[in-house]
Amino acid sequence: MSDDGDRGLPGKGLVQGLAVTLKTMTKRSTTQQYPDVEPELPPRSRGVIALSEENCTVCMLCARECPDWCIYIDSHKEEVVVPGAARARQRNVLDRFDIDFSLCMYCGICIEVCPFDALHWTPEFEYAETDVLDLLHDKNRLGEWMRTVPPPPAHDVLGEPSKEEATAARKAAGPGAATAAKTARPAVKRPETGR
Ligand code: SF4
Ligand code: SF4
Repeated sequence: MSDDGDRGLPGKGLVQGLAVTLKTMTKRSTTQQYPDVEPELPPRSRGVIALSEENCTVCMLCARECPDWCIYIDSHKEEVVVPGAARARQRNVLDRFDIDFSLCMYCGICIEVCPFDALHWTPEFEYAETDVLDLLHDKNRLGEWMRTVPPPPAHDVLGEPSKEEATAARKAAGPGAATAAKTARPAVKRPETGR
């Protein structure tokens, strides 16, 4: 069966298209005059990834979870002598932490999985390069982006305190406070008997 009946009057599509054009022409333009005027981006925009090197323990989770395999990490082990300890401890020292932004798809998985808050989004987006190889940002460059990371949103006043805040409050209240709080029973309101 032909679908001519579904097409309606000849030229109907043209009229509908022109109607959309006319409607759009009468609307105010929303063109942003970048680069003359900086765009107002939401603070949590995904511009570039920043690295807080001192937080990174080289656990490799981000590199393993990255679907594009565009995080490159190298490290070596270092002995740390702890006074009083039976033997020296070992810690990982970061030698290389690169992200190739020519491959990155800005999914944010690396930031989500990092257990130590070493990776952060920043809204900075002006890092276009004429050479694609320059989109490989090393740990120094990733570290420089840290100054553009917006502060975290304020804590919800109605939300539960964080684990750290609860621990600090318990310590400030003194050693007996936790036991007293556990043993204290809520006052039971007895029904009035009229006697
Ligand atoms: S944002 Fe996604 S693609 Fe980019 S480095 Fe992180 S995990 Fe990989
Ligand atoms: S997941 Fe975080 S701590 Fe682990 S290697 Fe990546 S940035 Fe470093």
